[in-house]
Amino acid sequence: MKRLALVAACLAAFGVGKPAAADDLPGRDFAIVGARVYADPAAAALDDGLVIVRNGRISAVGTSEKLAIPPGMKVISGKGRTLVAGFWNSHVHLMTHDLLHPEAADPLKLEAGLRDMFTRWGFTTVFDLTSTTASAVTLRQMIAKRALLGPQILTVGDPFFPKDGMPIYARPIYEAEHIASPEIRTTSEAVTRLDRQAQAGVNGVKLFTGAILGAEDVMVMPADQIGALVAEAHRHHLPVFAHPTNREGMAAAVENGVDVLAHATPIAGDWDAAQVRKLIDADVALVPTMMLFEVYPAESTPVSTVVQQVRALSAAGGDVLFGTDAGFMDVFDPSAEYRLMAQAMDWRHVLAALTLTPARRFGQSGERGRIEPGLAADMVLLDGDPAADLAAFAKVAMTFRAGEVLYRKD
Ligand SMILES: [Zn+2]
Repeated sequence: MKRLALVAACLAAFGVGKPAAADDLPGRDFAIVGARVYADPAAAALDDGLVIVRNGRISAVGTSEKLAIPPGMKVISGKGRTLVAGFWNSHVHLMTHDLLHPEAADPLKLEAGLRDMFTRWGFTTVFDLTSTTASAVTLRQMIAKRALLGPQILTVGDPFFPKDGMPIYARPIYEAEHIASPEIRTTSEAVTRLDRQAQAGVNGVKLFTGAILGAEDVMVMPADQIGALVAEAHRHHLPVFAHPTNREGMAAAVENGVDVLAHATPIAGDWDAAQVRKLIDADVALVPTMMLFEVYPAESTPVSTVVQQVRALSAAGGDVLFGTDAGFMDVFDPSAEYRLMAQAMDWRHVLAALTLTPARRFGQSGERGRIEPGLAADMVLLDGDPAADLAAFAKVAMTFRAGEVLYRKD
C-alpha cells in the first residue's frame, strides 16, 4: 500500500493531480436541480438534489429544500434523473488513423469521434493504454487549448513489447500506420525510451508481460526487463500497466512490481484465495475488460471465469477499475460491460470502479472522482438509477467536464 500512496503523492506533486488550467473557466456557472445525487459510491442518495457549479468547479451540494439557487443562475433540470461523478474508462486506445494524426485531422471530426467513443457514455477521463506518445500528447494539448472538446486524456504512449514479441493483432495496425515496432531490443535501450516518454508527458507505462503471438503462443517478458522498466517508471512516479494474458504473464507482472493488470486472465482459470491475496498484497489493481472476452469468444477464455476473477478480487477488497478496451474494440457502448460487472459486483462497487478508485489510483482524488465542493465539475446525468438497474450507467443524458457540456442526449 505504501508504495502506491507514495506514487499518488508524487503524481500530485508533479502536477498530474493538479487542476489543469482548462479546468477553471470563468462563466461556467449553473445549477443542476431535482436529480437524485450519489455524491460518491458510499454516500446515501440525495433526493431532489441541488448541485451548484461556479467557474467549472462544484461549489455546493445539497437539496433544493436546504440550498438556494443563486439569483440569475442558469438552471438545468435533473428531475427523474440521477447525477454521479464523471466516469473514468481506464483501458482505451487512441489508435484510429485520425487519432494517431490529430494535427492533420479535422478538429470537428476528431471531436465527434471522441464523443462517440467516450463522452456520450459519460467518460470524462480516459486512460489510453497504447497509441503513440507523440499523437496522444498532441491530442491532449489540442483539448487543453480548446481546439476541440474531449475528455481528460491520460496515456502510456508507446507500449513495450517483448523482443520479437509484437502481438499478432497489433502487427496490421503498426504496418498500416507505419509505426516503428515498440519492441524491447535491449533493456538499456528500453529504459532510455521510457525516460524520453516520461519527459514527453506520458502518465503511465504499459508492458506486454504476456504477449499473444498466436493461438497457443504467449511470449512472457523476462523478469529482469520488467523489473528494470518498473523501477524506472516508478522513479518517474508513473504507474505501470501490464497486459498479462496467462498465469505466467500475470505472475511476472505481479512479482516484479507492476501496478495494474489491464485485463483479467481467464485462460489461467479461476483465481483462488491465494492468487487474490497475492494481488492485494502487491497492491495490484485490475481492469477486467469483461466484454472483450464476450466479443472475442474462445473456449480457452470463458467469460464465466472472468466473472469469477472479478468477483473474487472485489469481494476480498481489491481494486477494480472500469475499462472497455474501446479503440481496440469498435464496440463503444459499455452496456455489456455493465451487464457482466453486475454478475460480479454490486452497483456501488461499479460506481467506485468508474470514479473514486481510478481517481485515487492515478493521483487525482483531490481533483475528481466525487461530487464535492472544490472538485472539478466532472459529472454525468443518467436516465434512471443504477441502484435499481445497473444498465442505467449506460443511459447517459448529459456529460459535463469541468462544467462544460460535452454531451447532451436531447
Ligand atoms: Zn487494450
